[in-house]
Amino acid sequence: MQDCPILIVGAGITGLALADQFQKSGKEFLLLEAAKHVGGNIQTRSHQGYLADLGPNTLLLRDPRWQSWLAELGIEQQIQVANPLARRRYIVNKDRQLIPLGPGILFHNRLLSLRARLRLLGEPLRGRGQDPDESIASFIRRRLGPEVLRWLVDPFVSGVFAGDPEQLAVAAALPRLSQLEKRYGSLLLAGLLAPRSPRAPLISFSQGLSSLPQALAQRLGSRLVCNCTVEQLEFAQDHWLVHSTQGSWRSPQLILALPAYAIAQILPPEALELRQLLLEITYPAVATVALGFARDQIQHPLDGFGALIPRCLGIPTLGVLFSSTLFPHRAPEGKVLLTAFLGGAQGKLPREDSGILQQVWSDLQPLLGIRGEPVLTLIQRWAHAIPQYDRGHRIRLERIQTLRKQWSGLTLLGNWQGGVALGDCLHSASECAKQWAQC
Ligand SMILES: Cc1cc2nc3c(=O)[nH]c(=O)nc-3n(C[C@H](O)[C@H](O)[C@H](O)COP(=O)(O)OP(=O)(O)OC[C@H]3O[C@@H](n4cnc5c(N)ncnc54)[C@H](O)[C@@H]3O)c2cc1C
Repeated sequence: MQDCPILIVGAGITGLALADQFQKSGKEFLLLEAAKHVGGNIQTRSHQGYLADLGPNTLLLRDPRWQSWLAELGIEQQIQVANPLARRRYIVNKDRQLIPLGPGILFHNRLLSLRARLRLLGEPLRGRGQDPDESIASFIRRRLGPEVLRWLVDPFVSGVFAGDPEQLAVAAALPRLSQLEKRYGSLLLAGLLAPRSPRAPLISFSQGLSSLPQALAQRLGSRLVCNCTVEQLEFAQDHWLVHSTQGSWRSPQLILALPAYAIAQILPPEALELRQLLLEITYPAVATVALGFARDQIQHPLDGFGALIPRCLGIPTLGVLFSSTLFPHRAPEGKVLLTAFLGGAQGKLPREDSGILQQVWSDLQPLLGIRGEPVLTLIQRWAHAIPQYDRGHRIRLERIQTLRKQWSGLTLLGNWQGGVALGDCLHSASECAKQWAQC
């Protein structure tokens, strides 16, 4: 049994970013990671001249301080800012055509019926909602009508959460929307009156998003222990006993930067309610499929970020990124790379990889005008992809934090609270480091 003042478990972006801040402030700690490599969901693969991110594809640099942090890490020169064309995002309409989203889309006849557009005019007159735990679907139906839900918000929710708007709570999953309703009483008025923050750059790196966790790991050196799965936690006399595949540690401070279900698996049996609450947070399965084609196999100009597919069309694929448009050097000369997503809370994944591939390919073929077979296919299954901030999530989180406080020295982090985007994870890690600095 070795002693360590602080143990952090999980070297996804959350645990790594926190460890980096601890290192800078001179804290003594160890970061334990089950996998051979760091990064968790961030998975870049390079194959036959293609560079594919099979987890997250983009990082929104919403905090200007992150730019200097990336410089400190020595990867500033590798930053790739998304092609300006990426501002164009397509949606598939009822005629199965890709139409570009833009400021006027709500009033465009290629997406919504005349009735739905006329209904929108009355939106500023509708009262504020009363249910603090309202679903996204109910909120949007109430304010903007069922067609906006079906053709715009549902595919957006698939793109961010791979989720079901009937289940997700608007205040937890899209807090900005409920804040705008509270403040302006109308989303359309908020669109006109709310101050706009400057557009944050959407980035990746020349070797893919994995460059960030790799740079963080390099800086941590021997404070990072990979191939080290924490199997069981015990609490004894104000200390945590952390039993792992590489031995046991004793520590007064334990930070678990893990998915909710992974925390539930290792907490002591006495933490029964806490474990149950963590297990209630669901993570639907998603598959990411990278497809390489010769440019002339695809009729669509691929002049944008990608396309989202409304669930009501009955097309299982959730959406597709035009990856080689988004960032340079993602495909060899004369070739293109697409990254598609299948599954999610409203779908099912075929058992076999061949089924996943067949589904995505047959869905995309008519939409993008694809001729012939892909020249590259890479598939990544995410058995537990993205935590769902369902109705009840906020109350559940409050109870989790109350129960967590009963365990001395325990901190819980991860994308199941504070937002699922990479930027949210960086923010949560930095808030946690700030709290520690005050201790
Ligand atoms: C398919 C997909 C696409 C996405 N796209 C985007 C996007 O484009 N942009 C964006 O901003 N976000 C995106 N996200 C969300 C984002 O990737 C995640 O929210 C974020 O990476 C989560 O980081 P994390 O560190 O909290 O958790 P994780 O990445 O899950 O890291 C947890 C780590 O803990 C380790 N671990 C688990 N159990 C143990 C144990 N018992 N002992 C030791 N270690 C353990 C795991 O191996 C892992 O490395 C996407 C997510 C997915 C799945």
